[in-house]
Amino acid sequence: MRKKKRVGAVSPGNLYNGGKTRTRREWRGAADTLYDYSRWCVNWTRLIRFIIRPQSIKGLLRYRWMHDYIAAIDLLDRSVDGLRGNQLRIGHTEFDYIVKQIISALTIMFEADQRIGGDKKKSDKIVVFDENMMEHLSFGFPDLNRSCPQMCAVFARSAVSQHSAHYYIDVAEQYGITGDVCTMPKAELGVAIEQDFPDIGNCMIHCNTTCDTSLMGNSIEDMFYGKPSFALAAPEHIEDELVMEYAADEIKDAIAFIEKQTGSKWDWAAYFHNMKMFNEMTRSFLEILDMQKTDYPQLPENNYALHREVYYTRMLNGRLEDLVKVEKNIRRLMYKGYKHRDIMCSEVRHRALVWGVQGEFYTNFPNWLIECWGIVPITHFMNLTSTSIYADEDTPENREQAYYDLADLHVKMLMRNRSEGGFRLGVEDVWRFCEEYRCDMIIMYEQIACKAMTGYHGIYEEGAAERGIKIVWVTHSLLDTRKASRQAMRDEVNLYMRTVLNETPLAPELEVIDDGNAW
Ligand code: SF4
Repeated sequence: MRKKKRVGAVSPGNLYNGGKTRTRREWRGAADTLYDYSRWCVNWTRLIRFIIRPQSIKGLLRYRWMHDYIAAIDLLDRSVDGLRGNQLRIGHTEFDYIVKQIISALTIMFEADQRIGGDKKKSDKIVVFDENMMEHLSFGFPDLNRSCPQMCAVFARSAVSQHSAHYYIDVAEQYGITGDVCTMPKAELGVAIEQDFPDIGNCMIHCNTTCDTSLMGNSIEDMFYGKPSFALAAPEHIEDELVMEYAADEIKDAIAFIEKQTGSKWDWAAYFHNMKMFNEMTRSFLEILDMQKTDYPQLPENNYALHREVYYTRMLNGRLEDLVKVEKNIRRLMYKGYKHRDIMCSEVRHRALVWGVQGEFYTNFPNWLIECWGIVPITHFMNLTSTSIYADEDTPENREQAYYDLADLHVKMLMRNRSEGGFRLGVEDVWRFCEEYRCDMIIMYEQIACKAMTGYHGIYEEGAAERGIKIVWVTHSLLDTRKASRQAMRDEVNLYMRTVLNETPLAPELEVIDDGNAW
């Protein structure tokens, strides 16, 4: 057990008062509070600059999902709850980038959106990628923009404001989708039914990842999109090399489809240039993972998982050059923190592997684990995707290899490689990671509608008992707080820690937080 004196007296839980959060300045000592405040000002400036643009105002008036972005700064504040020193700076570096990218994605969409009088030429230069695509497929089309409206209208928005997906979930259920279907594709479908996706793009590519429910959502959404679309089928037997030839053919067909629809030509030089930078990001990620294995992990898990989601799938369309700079900055801060032997809370009691799909409406839940119970989440299954280094030199052999590399990225898409990829990736790897990352605990998210993961429940219990690993189940419904609230998630941990482990919290005042009506 490692302990450290903490600067700052005001616990983040005191900032919730039963309503929407209005006061968010947490006292962390003069230097950290000032730094945090300066990032708050920078991000507000970015948001104001974005929202005063005529197309943004039209978007705000046209789309009900835009209203929730008023709480974007609250998400930022929540994401750095309780953090100090270098970890606070790492958290801001990651989240400032995400805020910047969401603004950029919204700007590209609204400028082209035909529902609000956007520029048709710009719209014709957009290929809509569904949320389950790996956007590396656009690396070879530098003259086109890709856009993922689902990300802005549903997924990112749900992290911003916890109740935001309810309306669209209800719309999809009224349409006939059953209550036990995963809320992610269901909410996206609700947006499509309401005609609340921006009317953009020349054509659309969608994919059968992450799972069968996503596939259901996509095929119905396709009907509402009403423009040419291509369904890319990535095989599920991802460890079987025999399927890769088929998967590579799918990639070739998707590229041919984009070329035919847009008139653009695949550019190998651009592809390999972008892949080189993506490889640089992967190498950096491997260094980060190595540091998480030590006694002094430096990365607050939830922030890094979200950050990696953004750059691994390339879902927010940022420039890779910018990302490489952000990543270098994170590594610099990470080594600085390691040198100082920084720890994330006053006392590290447990090192936890976080497994299963996170509750998107409570992305700062890992911060609470750290602050309240001294449980430090070391890494998360969303992070543990492909760490392969892909071909990045333009040679005749590599041109053929590139189709296989893109196929590999698709079959190892976020969520699906672990939840749908079979027993070794979904179960056996849990024990391997616990050993590698020296975790004595698993925080096991049980997303109640995620059928494959729910099916593993008993197997995880047995395996953890055999190995003496503590397993804490945290139930949620991804985007729907009506099935399990943030407090219900915390209660499961509180109960386990007090009754099974007989421990008392580091911050008892955080066990119950009145945030049911907060953003
Ligand atoms: S959470 Fe599970 S059910 Fe939902 S999209 Fe992801 S893999 Fe599919």
